[in-house]
Amino acid sequence: MSTLPDVLPRDEYNQTLVSNVHPPDWKNPEPSGRYNLVVIGAGSAGLITAAVAAGLGAKVALIERHLLGGDCLNVGCVPSKGLIRGSRMVAEARRAAELGLRPPGDADVDFGEAMRRVRRVRARISHEDSAARYRDELGVEVYLGDARFTGSDTVEVDGKTLRFKKAVIATGARAAAPPIPGLAEAGYLDNETLFNLTERPGRFGVIGTGPIGCEMAQAFRRLGSRVTAFDVSDHILPREDADAAEIVQARFREEGIDLVLGCSLQEVEVRSGEKVIHSACADGGSRQVTVDEILVGVGRAPNVEGLGLETVGVEYDARRGVHVNDYLQTSNPRIYAAGDVCMRRKFTHAADAAAKIVVQNALFLRTARLSSLVMPWCTFTDPEVAHVGLYAHEAAEQGIELDTYKVPLAEVNRAVTDGEDEGFVKIHTKRGADKILGANIVATHAGEMISEITLAMVAGVGLGKILGVIHPYPTQAEGIKRAAGAYTRTRATPFVKKALSRWMALRR
Ligand SMILES: Cc1cc2nc3c(=O)[nH]c(=O)nc-3n(C[C@H](O)[C@H](O)[C@H](O)COP(=O)(O)OP(=O)(O)OC[C@H]3O[C@@H](n4cnc5c(N)ncnc54)[C@H](O)[C@@H]3O)c2cc1C
Repeated sequence: MSTLPDVLPRDEYNQTLVSNVHPPDWKNPEPSGRYNLVVIGAGSAGLITAAVAAGLGAKVALIERHLLGGDCLNVGCVPSKGLIRGSRMVAEARRAAELGLRPPGDADVDFGEAMRRVRRVRARISHEDSAARYRDELGVEVYLGDARFTGSDTVEVDGKTLRFKKAVIATGARAAAPPIPGLAEAGYLDNETLFNLTERPGRFGVIGTGPIGCEMAQAFRRLGSRVTAFDVSDHILPREDADAAEIVQARFREEGIDLVLGCSLQEVEVRSGEKVIHSACADGGSRQVTVDEILVGVGRAPNVEGLGLETVGVEYDARRGVHVNDYLQTSNPRIYAAGDVCMRRKFTHAADAAAKIVVQNALFLRTARLSSLVMPWCTFTDPEVAHVGLYAHEAAEQGIELDTYKVPLAEVNRAVTDGEDEGFVKIHTKRGADKILGANIVATHAGEMISEITLAMVAGVGLGKILGVIHPYPTQAEGIKRAAGAYTRTRATPFVKKALSRWMALRR
């Protein structure tokens, strides 16, 4: 049996969480016969793989060494979005006077209460991923313990040997640790420890301004920390559409987040109990920032160690993780992989989609391909930044010519009525056609809006057709329809316009 996880603080909510996703009194089953599928790791990828396969009648073993639900439930999507909800509420309360509500004094933030709610929400959701539910409702044999391959068709866990026809590696990833001198000695938080906090750090340093760093920098700032965010890049969200990142960056500055950009971290020093971060900047300058806590969010390292991958001939490396082909098959044809351990796009919905590909290919005909997926994603800052398909620079690299239709939210009535008009809808089509190749949306709820474009791309619905789709007025999704209108106007060639005018003249 694996060591019992200690999720801090040990309150009623975390006890509920642990009793669901790593029950202290759990008895592992006795393996009998051969499994159709042995799944290692019970995060988003492993859970979906196991549930779908068992639902189709397969005999499935699911092995988890820590907490079922993996990163997403325990230390990722769920707690981060719970915290962001609280921080948005605080930001809205601060703007309340503008909307006619006189707040009772300056909005007072109870950080401890905000974190308690995060734990409560997580505990509530944890039933869905519980070991008992997987065993009793879904028919999956759940093992708690550290798994490793021991032979060509065997996995060992808790001293038991499980035989498999096919196996799936879904062991996920963890926060990568940057090699900054003094950082480890000074101590820092990552996503595994961040949500254990019960007290607000007064001064909060965030290393890395990718999605996780940005989401948490803004949330902590709004909840009252003085936040400094560091990146070697000269702007935040370096992988995002530059126009989108610029809007969020301007918002961060307005909200008082200190951005130390274009600077590389040289050292972290501890002085009288405070952490001093030294950085050297591209412009020749340097910065020294003193903080109470540091959050590291500089990327993810795949969990490939200790799995006995060499024993079964599965190729991997420490950066990309397990190597897979388009069918998510590893270099051992009987072993597949899914989720953060092998994929570039590290999202829960990507892991979910990959799990379904693996079930199809491992248990039925090998026909499902990773490259066929249309993958949206969203960074849950305020405003949110959502994306699907190609970025303009990717299209340029691939020699694909685009037409781009951009509608500022300042032209969308609902965004104006709601005071949420910083943002845009940008849709790329194939040059001269209405086939949608990609989109970026910056809006308060861009994550909800992007699904309309994703659906259109999956269903092969062109941008012209979207103009004919009635959108309720007033909604921010009308920005998408307006982009469709912009496309349709380009169709009205001078010849068509002239012909129409003549016809209208005849009808007068
Ligand atoms: C702070 C944060 C916020 C995020 N927010 C979002 C978001 O809003 N939306 C989104 O889509 N994605 C988000 N993500 C990403 C998302 O959490 C991951 O993409 C997703 O959890 C990947 O699922 P997975 O199953 O591949 O891996 P994981 O969730 O990491 O699960 C892998 C599991 O395997 C187990 N394991 C590892 N090795 C072994 C072994 N040898 N034996 C047994 N078990 C093992 C681990 O304990 C773990 O439980 C966020 C991530 C973080 C860190």
